[in-house]
Amino acid sequence: MAEPTVFTTPDPTVRDLLATHPQLTSDVQCGLMLEGVPLSAIADEVGTPCWVMSAGTLRVRAQRLLGAMTQAGLSVAPHFAVKANDHVAVLRILSETGFGADVVSGGELRRARNAGIPASRIVFSGVGKTDAELRLALAEGIAQVNVESAEELEILSALASACNREMTVLLRVNPDVDAGTHAKITTGVAENKFGVPYDEALALYRRASELPGLRPAGYAMHIGSQILSAKPFREAYARLATLVKATRAAGYPVSALDCGGGLGICYRDEGEGSPDAWAGAIRAELGGLDVRLAIEPGRWIAAPAGVLLSTVVLRKVVTGGVPFIILDAAMNDLLRPSLYDAWHGIVPLSPRDAVADVETVAVVGPVCESGDTFAPARVLPRLERGARVAVLDTGAYGAVMSSTYNSRTLAAQVLVDGERWSVIRPRQNVETLWADEVVPEWIKQTA
Ligand SMILES: *Cc1c(COP(=O)(O)O)cnc(C)c1O
Repeated sequence: MAEPTVFTTPDPTVRDLLATHPQLTSDVQCGLMLEGVPLSAIADEVGTPCWVMSAGTLRVRAQRLLGAMTQAGLSVAPHFAVKANDHVAVLRILSETGFGADVVSGGELRRARNAGIPASRIVFSGVGKTDAELRLALAEGIAQVNVESAEELEILSALASACNREMTVLLRVNPDVDAGTHAKITTGVAENKFGVPYDEALALYRRASELPGLRPAGYAMHIGSQILSAKPFREAYARLATLVKATRAAGYPVSALDCGGGLGICYRDEGEGSPDAWAGAIRAELGGLDVRLAIEPGRWIAAPAGVLLSTVVLRKVVTGGVPFIILDAAMNDLLRPSLYDAWHGIVPLSPRDAVADVETVAVVGPVCESGDTFAPARVLPRLERGARVAVLDTGAYGAVMSSTYNSRTLAAQVLVDGERWSVIRPRQNVETLWADEVVPEWIKQTA
């Protein structure tokens, strides 16, 4: 596992976090609000842990991203990376703002269709698509498959020919650019599994144009996630532009480029990735190529739109160490801190708790793993048993990564829109955890 990140700046205060998260406000009476809804009202009615998504924030951020592209003079087809948040209501909201879907499995493809996203606005990425998944893509007639290997190209060609269909393919190229993010979310350097090596891309494009059942249209790339500066994007797109020119010079038409996703957000005090700078990088390197452009953002749109509500189970004091704040949420709910050492803001719901004297604590969950830690050493207002908190920026790679480890049920999900809110997924009933489990007759007989 990677060494925990060491921060050189002090933890942001509650006030600092509210300043960088305008979707959240603190009301002197009601405490922490998401849009027009006091989060404590949701916690009272639904209980904790509970995910809350803000429809308004999703819309504002989706439109902000589209606006930046338009401002840069670009016409870009936006596809939301469904793996970031696959709730049908989220997909529906984004679809209404003009987004299609970038899917990485047959399940996500079916979800996107189920949410009403037309097949013509769905693209399929991923290193290991099964035959069944590729057949589904062909049967649905989706917009394009981003092919990630020579092997996949041959398989897709055979499957398409067998059902007398043609599929538009983009070759996902690995530009060998370091996006400078965490090793587990970097995808554009040569040693990782994603895409085809840059130097082999043109030969493979030629191969694609010879194979039946395929319509090679161009190239795709996605260099990683939580990218905060335009520099890695520009470097990668410059490599892409060179490849497009070489491909055309070799006599093969190129009509489409998929610029991937990866724009980062401000979890702590890093500042957020700028849609304008991203659009600027696309325009500068790819704007003059006369191709259809597409993007696949996930985190930038969805992460700040969501919080995870949790209650302090107890405050455990130990000699020789900082107190443990043990939450009723755990790594099975929000995996990112355990998996990536991710830093998430933690803000009390109660207006009184928010202004209590601060202390350094370890914020952990109740799961039987030392890795079940949200924050090993965090400066927070003093929290007593029963206090409730919001873990911020959990709208992407949050609920989608949940498991039922330790037989913990999947947390409830709520959608806020203005002053309205609704449960969009009830807390999982504990009996459903074993409902599909079968004890074989031969085990029962020996009992
Ligand atoms: C994960 C992923 C994205 C979205 O990345 P974000 O960092 O959430 O924007 C886009 N495209 C592909 C191929 C991905 O795997």
